[in-house]
Amino acid sequence: MVSCLRCDKRAQASLAYEERPLCREHFNRLFQDRVKRALREAGFPKRGDCAAVALSGGKDSAALLHVLHSLAERQGFELKPILVDEGIAGYRPACTKKARELCGQLGYELYETSYKELFGTTMDLAVRSAKRKQEGVFTPCSFCGVWRRKALEQTARAVGADCVVTGHNLDDLAQTFLMNLLRGEPLRRVSLLGECTSSGSLPLLKPLLYCPERECGLYSKLNKLPFHAGQCPYVVRGLRHRVRAFLRELESDFPGRNFALLGSLRELQEKKDLRKVSARLKECSVCGGPTPTGLCRPCEYQRALAP
Ligand code: SF4
Ligand code: ZN
Repeated sequence: MVSCLRCDKRAQASLAYEERPLCREHFNRLFQDRVKRALREAGFPKRGDCAAVALSGGKDSAALLHVLHSLAERQGFELKPILVDEGIAGYRPACTKKARELCGQLGYELYETSYKELFGTTMDLAVRSAKRKQEGVFTPCSFCGVWRRKALEQTARAVGADCVVTGHNLDDLAQTFLMNLLRGEPLRRVSLLGECTSSGSLPLLKPLLYCPERECGLYSKLNKLPFHAGQCPYVVRGLRHRVRAFLRELESDFPGRNFALLGSLRELQEKKDLRKVSARLKECSVCGGPTPTGLCRPCEYQRALAP
C-alpha cells in the first residue's frame, strides 16, 4: 500500500507536482484551501451575503457546491444553487438529474430556469435557426455563453443573491486567456478572474480558479458526488479544442504551465484600469443591461436567432 505524503493513511490522489500521492482527507484539505484562497482574494461572499451557485450537473460545479457547503456556515454566508436549462436534447436532462440529486444530498432547493423561459428559444432551436439563416459566424458556444451569463445574472437577482459563483477551473481560465492572446485581445473578458464585473452587474466569482480540471474530477469522485460525465453535442472543434489539447500536452511534460498563465493574466489585469471600461458602458435599448453599444450581445443574438 502506498501511504499519503502527509500521513499514514492509504494514498488515493496522485498529483503531478507532488512527489507522492495524498489520502482523501489531505487531498480534500488542499482543494478546500485553494477555494478559500480564491474567495479571500475576491473579497466575496461577505458575512451575511447570499451566493447564487451556478450548477451544470458536471464535476466542476458539483465540487464547487460541496466545498462551499462545507465553508458556508463557518464563514456566515448562504448558498442558493441555480441551474439554467439551455434546451439541448440528449444532454441537458441527464445533467439536470445529477444536479437535482446533488442538491437533494446536501439539502438545498435548486432554482431552475431556462433559455426558453428567458429568451423564448432553446439551444436546439437557435442552432437550427443559425444554420437556416446561414449565420455561420455564430458558433453555438458563442451565443450559448453570452445567454448563460445573462441568465445567471437574472436568476441570481431573482433569488435575492449578492454574487454569482461559477465552476470555471484553472484549465478553463488558462485556455480562455491563451485564446485571448492568440486573438490579440489579452483582456477580452475583464471578468476572467472573477473579481471584476461590468458596472451594475453582480460580482462574478470563480472560486475554482486555482483548481486544475483533473483535480475537480478527482474531488467529485473521491467524495462520491453525483455528476454527469457526458459532453455537450455542440462542442465545436474550434480554437478552444486546439488550445485545450496543446495545454494538456504541455502540462503533462512541464507541470505548472496553467498556473503560470494565470499569474501572467493577473499581472496584466492589475496594470489595466478596469474602471475606465465600466465607465464606457451604456444601457441596452431592449433589456437595460450593460453594453458598450446600444444593444447588448444577448439581445443581439436573441433577435438574430429567433425561431
Ligand atoms: Fe453551451 Fe457550448 Fe457549453 Fe454546449 S458546450 S452547453 S453549446 S457553451
Ligand atoms: Zn494524508
